Amino acid sequence: MLSGKPAGVKCVQLDDEMRCKIFGHPDRPQVCGSLKPAAGMCGDSRDQAMLWIGDLEKATAPAINIPR
Ligand code: SF4
Repeated sequence: MLSGKPAGVKCVQLDDEMRCKIFGHPDRPQVCGSLKPAAGMCGDSRDQAMLWIGDLEKATAPAINIPR
């Protein structure tokens, strides 16, 4: 994704089985390869993992400046 992946948007590199289509390819973003999974982020199910990543996205979202 040329401008980066917005929060809450599925990566265009995921196939129908939610597997990375460019895993192991040199074009795979460096940040993807640097992420080290841990039991705490994966939980026991996809739903738990999605909750964890949603909380992370909220915690790291840029502040919104509302003009007065
Ligand atoms: S590993 Fe990176 S490129 Fe591959 S599907 Fe996930 S976010 Fe997309």
